[in-house]
Amino acid sequence: MFQCERVFVNRKQKKCEIRLFLEVSLRTNHRTIKMKQEDNFKHQGMRKQLIDSIRTKGIDDERVLEAMLKVPRHHFLEKAFLNQAYTDQAFKIGAGQTISQPYTVAYQTSLLHLKKGDKVLEIGTGSGYQTCILLEMGAKVFSIERQKELFDKTKDLLSSLAYSPKLFYGDGYKGLPSYAPFDKVLVTCGAPHVPEELLKQLKVGGVMVIPVGAGDVQIMTTILKTSETTFETHELKNFRFVPMLEHKEWGK
Ligand code: SAH
Repeated sequence: MFQCERVFVNRKQKKCEIRLFLEVSLRTNHRTIKMKQEDNFKHQGMRKQLIDSIRTKGIDDERVLEAMLKVPRHHFLEKAFLNQAYTDQAFKIGAGQTISQPYTVAYQTSLLHLKKGDKVLEIGTGSGYQTCILLEMGAKVFSIERQKELFDKTKDLLSSLAYSPKLFYGDGYKGLPSYAPFDKVLVTCGAPHVPEELLKQLKVGGVMVIPVGAGDVQIMTTILKTSETTFETHELKNFRFVPMLEHKEWGK
């Protein structure tokens, strides 16, 4: 009787163990499985060409390029736009917004000088593509999006791709005081001015990368926080971003 009970328990245990093993391996392989299904040699070839073209445009941070090789950009656009996904251009993603041009993503990411484990605040989640590049580089990402439609869509997409950033629906101008300070702050929309609140939430020694300009053109700007009250600012190249909208402009 005892023996029997033991066998029964063991079988049950075994079954349980097998189920657990399957669940865990499915979970760990989730991204690989999805990639196998939806990221074929053609996609990978197109992506390699795109990354090579970005390298020839002057991006030499191989860690950034490696991360970009890993993230299937076509998952972030509607299915019909495969060619556009692997062309170096920004593209519409709904709600009047765009996925950033791959060159811009590479450029901004290089300027962050990311270290594994860096806590990054991203303003403007959009499609989530940039978010995934940061994650692939080992950052812990906190990202804010002000368009509810995009926030919902991107949250679902990223979890289906097994990426787990912390996503927030809200106003990027306010940052995330309860999660501050951040090692890096990355703004992916054109800011008419540098938001004071974001400077406060940056660690001393931390870097903010932000395109600044109220008109059609923004100057890519890096800001190093040298002490609680001092900053070293560098203005780099011109870019065109969708605007970082202030609260009064919401609903436009
Ligand atoms: N990194 C994104 C770029 C999206 S474009 C990508 O790779 O897809 C910039 C995003 O900033 C848009 O989705 C826009 O809705 C968002 N945005 C604009 N103003 C904002 C604000 N005040 N707070 C948070 N997000 C904002």
